[in-house]
Amino acid sequence: MAENTNNNEYDVLVIGGGIAGEEAALNLANQNFKVILVEKDLSLGGKMIHLSKVFPTLDCAACITTPKVSETARHPNIHIFTYSEIENIEKKSEREFNATLIEKPTYVEDNCTGCQLCEEKCPVIVKDQYQWDLVGRKAIYIPFSIANPRIAAIDIDNCILCGACEKVCPADCIDFTQIEKKSQIKVKAVIIATGYNLFDAKIIKRYNVGTVKNVITSMQMERQLVPTRPFNNVLRPSDGKMPDNIAYVLCVGSRDETVGNPICSQVCCMYSTKQAQLIMGALPMADVTIYYINIRAFGKGFCEFYQQAKGMGVEFVKGKVARIEQGEDENVILRYEDIIKGTVQEAEHDLVVLSVGILPNTDYTGFFKNGGVEQDKFNYVKQTDELLSPALTSINGVFAAGTSTGPMDIPDTILSAGAASSETASYLRKAK
Ligand code: SF4
Ligand code: SF4
Repeated sequence: MAENTNNNEYDVLVIGGGIAGEEAALNLANQNFKVILVEKDLSLGGKMIHLSKVFPTLDCAACITTPKVSETARHPNIHIFTYSEIENIEKKSEREFNATLIEKPTYVEDNCTGCQLCEEKCPVIVKDQYQWDLVGRKAIYIPFSIANPRIAAIDIDNCILCGACEKVCPADCIDFTQIEKKSQIKVKAVIIATGYNLFDAKIIKRYNVGTVKNVITSMQMERQLVPTRPFNNVLRPSDGKMPDNIAYVLCVGSRDETVGNPICSQVCCMYSTKQAQLIMGALPMADVTIYYINIRAFGKGFCEFYQQAKGMGVEFVKGKVARIEQGEDENVILRYEDIIKGTVQEAEHDLVVLSVGILPNTDYTGFFKNGGVEQDKFNYVKQTDELLSPALTSINGVFAAGTSTGPMDIPDTILSAGAASSETASYLRKAK
């Protein structure tokens, strides 16, 4: 066990509070290392906490994530900073890094009880980024129902400073005088667990995203399928009608040189197959068609999961979608190349879901002074010994976990975080 003699000194800095960061932090904290976990969002949980179910087991994602989030939040050896960022990290010597931590103001103190009375009174409504813009939220808001910490925050860019929240708050915890805080921390090792970004489908102009009605992304469908608020129902956005002829377009932003991302995202085939099965349950009369280039069902149980979807009636069409256009009755027209027949076809659906791919989150490139962590050719963190020690990076004492190193599914992310924490523990023990 390493000593923590100063409040600003820790053994390990974990950057990212998603499933990889939490797993790595917990593994190290359980070995009595002192961990500081920095998450840039308002809540822990990363992207997984927003999912409906996981493939291929169809277990509830929130039922897996929330206990891990709570364990991380309550662990005595883990000090968490949400809505905070690392400005820079400087390696002073072996097992000595200095980092600058920025805590951004939320304008709500920690004694917020999460009662949401302020949300009721706030007159400002803007798009809710946690529901992928499908619904609105207030300028003061709790990010989502199972957020941790479950504390309100004020979106100061949209706040009109009317004071209604302050008047109604029973805990007197609104504080408009909060300012950004900077502090210096010292750590012996760093784990990068910054996760991934989702591809922005607007980049593919021929898909006309934003102009053709009733084209949504897979994450927007994910939110419609979760059993909690705000939907628990599949509705098409233009008129709130329950769709009965839904299409999925796979490989949107993946395996596509024209958008600069030639690699497979590894999860889209299976998450789309999962969503199709959930839709068959939610809308038993609906037809679901999946347009694919190749189905990559490479993991344990994945092929059986694909066969299960076919058995339920999901139609798989080997076809490359070339254009998406507006049809009549707010329906959507897909023009696609039927790869088996070698012909160009048209199909009409009343809702189209774009299965967007995974892109690197390159935030990590800005962290390090005096020479950053090297990137691989796809802009993920370069694994300097990918086959034998996949968590090692180009800086001794800096390790990488989860999708910071490349696309992967949830079980592989957990394994990757285990490898990173194990490498880190061994590195720290050598220090003694
Ligand atoms: Fe909403 Fe801002 Fe008014 Fe508070 S002060 S109720 S956050 S608009
Ligand atoms: Fe309730 Fe006040 Fe927190 Fe709003 S800021 S959720 S009113 S305790």
